Amino acid sequence: MAASEHTFSYWERTAFTDNADVIIIGSGIVGLSAALQLKKQQPGLKVTVLERGFLPSGASTKNAGFACFGTISEQIEYLKRSSEADVLRLVDYKWRGLRRLRENLGDTNIDFHQNGGYELFMDNEADRATEALDHLTYFNNLLRHAIGSADIYAVADAKIADFGFKGVRGMIYNPYEGQLHTGKMMRTLLNRVYENDVLVLNGCSVNTIEHTGDGVVLATSQGNFKAPKVILATNAFAAQLYPELDVVPGRGQVLVTKPISGLKLKGTYHFNGGYYYFRNIDGRVLFGGGRNIDFKEEATWDFGHTEAVKNQLVKYLDEILLPGQPYEIEYWWSGIMGFGEDISPIIKEVQPNVFCAVRCNGMGVAMGSLVGEEVASLALS
Ligand SMILES: Cc1cc2nc3c(=O)[nH]c(=O)nc-3n(C[C@H](O)[C@H](O)[C@H](O)COP(=O)(O)OP(=O)(O)OC[C@H]3O[C@@H](n4cnc5c(N)ncnc54)[C@H](O)[C@@H]3O)c2cc1C
Repeated sequence: MAASEHTFSYWERTAFTDNADVIIIGSGIVGLSAALQLKKQQPGLKVTVLERGFLPSGASTKNAGFACFGTISEQIEYLKRSSEADVLRLVDYKWRGLRRLRENLGDTNIDFHQNGGYELFMDNEADRATEALDHLTYFNNLLRHAIGSADIYAVADAKIADFGFKGVRGMIYNPYEGQLHTGKMMRTLLNRVYENDVLVLNGCSVNTIEHTGDGVVLATSQGNFKAPKVILATNAFAAQLYPELDVVPGRGQVLVTKPISGLKLKGTYHFNGGYYYFRNIDGRVLFGGGRNIDFKEEATWDFGHTEAVKNQLVKYLDEILLPGQPYEIEYWWSGIMGFGEDISPIIKEVQPNVFCAVRCNGMGVAMGSLVGEEVASLALS
């Protein structure tokens, strides 16, 4: 008899560990959105979420809080890897995902603001800038029905000086991009699932998933759990349980400065093809990226920092974002995203009665609500 079989009392087994109709692994935006949808579709369903971290410990509480559907350079990059129809589908999915997130949680609760977004082109990025400008009308036409307007991307070079940037040759503005407070988003989402009587257990790492005659058994760091159905929402970590899934981890390193008096920037900003991003938050600058400095080193499940990325972020702060402005960095952290060859998430049954919803390709704030909904519907179908 396994040691874990002695661990839980009768009461714990019948009220906590063995009574779930569906167990969700992972309490990120996808796992919690799936929980919410399960309860919406079947209010009587018993849903348990198992999370290995003290807090959600992947990307959902570590990201930049951009409520964005993509810069022109990102769309061009997707177009090179995929079809026009796929690019359009992805933008539409992210746009609808953001609307659903806002409907579910409420703009005030998550500090959502549609301050617009900018793509910056550096002095040494003439080719990238030209390519983006050449595609401006094309993408405005392609995305007009998804976004509900043809005035999406527009040249905004005149604003470069207003923001105080240096070394920037051009800028494209998109008024439909927004920003939110990631921590408040996840707290509100957690509150929503608690209100719906979902059990969320932290500090519980799922080590193996096995099928028995009467359900799916999860061996965890806290003992065994059992349910008729399981949803895997572990994103970057999916291959730890199902190595055949095409999900490669990608670490993102982020900093936040102390408040800066007279800070001019407002909105979300991307440059270098989206590999660097920054925004204002509470009078501070949040700045992250640099995964492209060493893709191999950043393809890791380990949180942490590298000197190479940290130094590059500080250099860009000094030379481009805040030239001549005194600032101090107050926070550093990292989060782990899940990437793959295909730009779409993986939502499917991986084994009988085990359904996965993983690989948001670094865009889970935008698409996570719908990804969670889809897998919940699949699990109930
Ligand atoms: C630095 C950074 C910046 C980003 N910026 C943005 C942005 O601005 N806009 C945007 O749209 N997206 C952004 N993203 C991406 C976005 O955060 C993710 O796509 C999204 O959070 C993924 O949600 P998820 O629920 O699929 O995964 P996660 O949030 O990673 O959740 C998976 C959970 O599963 C848990 N888990 C893993 N394995 C196990 C196990 N074996 N047992 C139990 N629990 C387990 C993990 O601890 C984790 O909490 C960013 C990501 C990072 C890292």
